[in-house]
Amino acid sequence: MAPVLDCGPLMAARILDGKSLAAQVRSALKKEVEALSQRGIRPGLAVILAGDNPASRVYVRNKVRACEETGVRSDLYELPATVSEAALLDRVLALNDDSAVHGILVQLPLPKQIDPHRVLETIAPAKDVDGFHEANLGALVAGEPRMVACTPAGVMRLLEHAGVALGGAHAVVIGRSNIVGKPLALLLLQKDATVTICHSKSGGLGALARSADVLVAAVGRPKLVTGDMVKPGACVIDVGVNRLSDGSLCGDVDFAAAAAVAGSITPVPGGVGPMTIAMLLENCVRAARAMR
Ligand code: NAD
Repeated sequence: MAPVLDCGPLMAARILDGKSLAAQVRSALKKEVEALSQRGIRPGLAVILAGDNPASRVYVRNKVRACEETGVRSDLYELPATVSEAALLDRVLALNDDSAVHGILVQLPLPKQIDPHRVLETIAPAKDVDGFHEANLGALVAGEPRMVACTPAGVMRLLEHAGVALGGAHAVVIGRSNIVGKPLALLLLQKDATVTICHSKSGGLGALARSADVLVAAVGRPKLVTGDMVKPGACVIDVGVNRLSDGSLCGDVDFAAAAAVAGSITPVPGGVGPMTIAMLLENCVRAARAMR
């Protein structure tokens, strides 16, 4: 029985608990990593962190810790904020050739002298565990996904686990970034949802959102989605992570108001975030399995 948060008398929605699902995924992966390691293949992730963006540092630390807990080897390459593009590309090329490295992750954003597109396109597609390389994005567009971006993959796993019906459902994705909105829209389309993508220039956002059976917010604006933008019984997925002035985390959805109307909803924190890391590990293990 899924937990139901006590948010007052109106609270109706089922909570989609990403933390607990991610723990299940990680525990299954841990067993697979053990089995692979016994056959002499220890999955390995190389993480490149350039510069000293504090948020990036936290994200990288969480990813490295998750690797350790799952038995995936992680090598962290910390480069100064002044690193040249050529030096960073050289590092990526060396990791492409290293057979002990199955996944390469370059933490974004990069220092301004470096073109992120050039860096991401240099990663070997088979080691592109973030799924950002054009070869992997193209495979997704063609309906033959290989490495899929971790946050969209995590959202799909949550929906699948919750038994949310997607065939013929209207899915509205707010946000069109290459790392969340666009790939997620394609994955939903592949599951036969009718997909609408909204962005900063979209008019009538409220009405569009209200027509959604599955509503995804991936914008980066606290409480952009209000209760009156949610169709009764809809599934609401909140990808947003926003730090408020009091230091607390908040999603893009007004959780209490939306939960009073929705059929199911992800919390922030504890919803999509943990699934993103679980999918990163899964991509890494899959890459190791494919390269053996
Ligand atoms: P982004 O800035 O690249 O894209 C934001 C998108 O929102 C853009 O497409 C923009 O057009 C759209 N947008 C902006 N204002 C809007 C408005 N008023 N109405 C409708 N659309 C609007 O951001 P991103 O990288 O896709 O991340 C989005 C959010 O998701 C951020 O809060 C980020 O921190 C979070 N995020 C969370 C995870 C996770 O693991 N939980 C992973 C990645 C991103």
